[in-house]
Amino acid sequence: MRFSSLVEASCEAVSIRYNNKVYELQRQGHDVTVLSLGEAFFDLPLFSFDLLPLEKIYHYSHSRGILELRAALAHTYAEKYQVPVDPVSEMLVTAGSKAAIHMAFMTILDRGDEVLIPEPAWVSYPEQVKLCGARPIGVPYWIDTFHLEEFVTPRTRAIVINTPHNPTGRIYSAAELEYLLELARRRDLWILSDEAYSEFTADDSFVSLGRFDPHKKHSILFNSISKNHGISGWRIGYVIAAPEVINRVLKINQHLITCPPTILCHYVARYYDRILAITRPQIRAVVEKRRRVLQHLDALGITYLPGTATFYIFASIAPSALGSEAFCTRLLEERLVSVVPGIGYGASCDGFIRIGVGTTSMEKLCRGLDAIKELIEETAALNRAQAA
Ligand code: PMP
Repeated sequence: MRFSSLVEASCEAVSIRYNNKVYELQRQGHDVTVLSLGEAFFDLPLFSFDLLPLEKIYHYSHSRGILELRAALAHTYAEKYQVPVDPVSEMLVTAGSKAAIHMAFMTILDRGDEVLIPEPAWVSYPEQVKLCGARPIGVPYWIDTFHLEEFVTPRTRAIVINTPHNPTGRIYSAAELEYLLELARRRDLWILSDEAYSEFTADDSFVSLGRFDPHKKHSILFNSISKNHGISGWRIGYVIAAPEVINRVLKINQHLITCPPTILCHYVARYYDRILAITRPQIRAVVEKRRRVLQHLDALGITYLPGTATFYIFASIAPSALGSEAFCTRLLEERLVSVVPGIGYGASCDGFIRIGVGTTSMEKLCRGLDAIKELIEETAALNRAQAA
């Protein structure tokens, strides 16, 4: 049997691999403390499907996504983030932002091109770049935004940022975004800004990259209802870019997806304001819970990379002697606590784990954190014993 070398070179998503282990343990009847999921659970009612247009909902729809939904999403970008978006020509809605990001990579990359990806990096960026025949260049987490130019070569085509950031919760500052756009203009690059967690902030500190590039000459933005509205299973995400970019993404979308699920797009368009009104206060509660979890980590003496947003924390496992995969496997198998190994977020991140606070009660979370601390101590002792 022969297979594509691009697919053979691509790795499984480490977060999904750990979550599959969790489902398996749960199926065997174990009570797992799940800190590995990439979402926050909300209390969200089911509004009536009876009010949706019956003549449309069973069928294919516009392959940019229905205009009513694009208009609602564009309105949020204009009102809340001060990014003017023409819903007719500058937006495409597709089956999740993951697909949107991949199609954007396909639109801008040729074989051998390089894409700079600051670490920790969401697990899919490097694999998606590789699937385009291009080269992901991971930038170690200690390099700050203002030094990214040192990694730019004649083959560099794009830089991918994620703000607010999975897994640290960091929000890129206006100064960083302006610098990135200045670099993009000077070195003829695209800046891809994944803004899938834009609602998950304690205050109004999130700034969209689009605010500094209203004509979208160098920026491509992504967002989604998965995290911001707690509706990950419906697979609705979108890309905002100049018409020249969107028209090319549209070609790919027509050949791969056709259109996002019509009935769900009508539902979200119809109930969009009510969904926002219900989810926004719950998001504030999750971000507040994250703040309290940080206090618990501080008390335990566990350090983490700085960040105030999202429902993730990227915590250090130093001085454990274990790599992050071995640490997470032992934590899950011996203590029934699931977190995601940092190594999945880049070669520089093996000393970290990702903790998600969005799906577990505070009480259970604290017990999970205590278990993490115990395992760090137990395996640090191992380190000392080996050194002696
Ligand atoms: N970007 C980031 C940073 C994510 O964490 C995720 C999901 N884990 C996505 C994009 C993809 O989200 P979706 O495809 O559900 O819109």
